[in-house]
Amino acid sequence: MRAPVREENWRSAELNLVKMDSEGGEKKKGRRRGLKERLDAGETILCAEGYLLAFVRSGYVLQGLWVPEFVLDYPDVLRQQHYEFVRAGSDVTEAYQYHTNRTMMERISGQDRTEEINRIAIKIAREVADETGTLCAGGLSSTNLFKFSDSPSDEDPTEKVKKIFEEQVRWSKEEGADYIIAETMWSLAEAKVAVEVIISSGLPAVVTLSVRNLRKKDGVYATHDGVAIPEACCQLVELGATLVGVNCSQGPANMIEVVEQIVKVVPPEKVCALPIAYRTTSEQPTWQVFADKGYPKNNPAYPNGLEPFYVTRMEIVEFTKRCLELGLRYIGICCGNTGSYTRAMAEAMGKESVLCKYHTRAATAQAAVEDFMEKVHATVGE
Ligand SMILES: [Zn+2]
Repeated sequence: MRAPVREENWRSAELNLVKMDSEGGEKKKGRRRGLKERLDAGETILCAEGYLLAFVRSGYVLQGLWVPEFVLDYPDVLRQQHYEFVRAGSDVTEAYQYHTNRTMMERISGQDRTEEINRIAIKIAREVADETGTLCAGGLSSTNLFKFSDSPSDEDPTEKVKKIFEEQVRWSKEEGADYIIAETMWSLAEAKVAVEVIISSGLPAVVTLSVRNLRKKDGVYATHDGVAIPEACCQLVELGATLVGVNCSQGPANMIEVVEQIVKVVPPEKVCALPIAYRTTSEQPTWQVFADKGYPKNNPAYPNGLEPFYVTRMEIVEFTKRCLELGLRYIGICCGNTGSYTRAMAEAMGKESVLCKYHTRAATAQAAVEDFMEKVHATVGE
């Protein structure tokens, strides 16, 4: 399970360049391998997500609307974040299209720039992907137009959502996306619209549901429209999604329990999982219910008080190993992700990222930590 060192790709990006023809097929001038081809070849894919919180950390995005307006003014900041994740080991350069759909742009009175912000995002991702030999993924995120099943909308939002997704998928395809990720989907109904739109574009669909603290009577987590997550995943596979799974909301330890339920009903090679890099627990199973005993005292810590909840890289390594044991072939990290978490996951997957040359003498970062701790214990006489 060893991915190719990408430095060669980096230096000879031209050789890996392939333009897609109008049907989405590869032109023969060069080689660009798609998602399905890589999965069929037995590769495991690491997908770094979590751009939103990365830009909250650097101050470009504030909580609330979560619309990445800054990309219109500072595209190089986005490009740099792609480099951070890809150099650390991500096999995917995911276009930052989270909350760039028309409904979200309307909220900032930016609907006139909806196409521009999406095209910029995918163009940059495509360029970085070509340069680094990674996959370029376009993105769809929830419109929030589908409501909870106990407070249904006055009118069925399906057609409106379909139009919103269709334009985003069209722009992504025209700018050269290899596949589309529909992420952080709260309801099965919206996820189904996303999968249908993506598949009718001819691109592969990866769809991930997000878990809120909403459970069926038997304790299994459910979508906003009341469908058990494993059952929802089954339905999305039947619709033709290449990969289905969960992202965001839950930290590694809680998400693995959901993954264990999904792989009972969906073949593990079709399942993906991308937890947040924050530590959820059985008492606080999603980040929306975080309460910090420190500050603000027992008040909601989401979204402005998340810093004390970061996981360690060792928790990411444990999650990675468990996913591989279960047979997953596509994993990653969502909100809270950093280059260091991505690198920890990549190394646990046996990948060699371009940053691997920046090692201590120890063979892996984990070994370096163990080596360091041994010396600490020796110093304190334990
Ligand atoms: Zn997230």
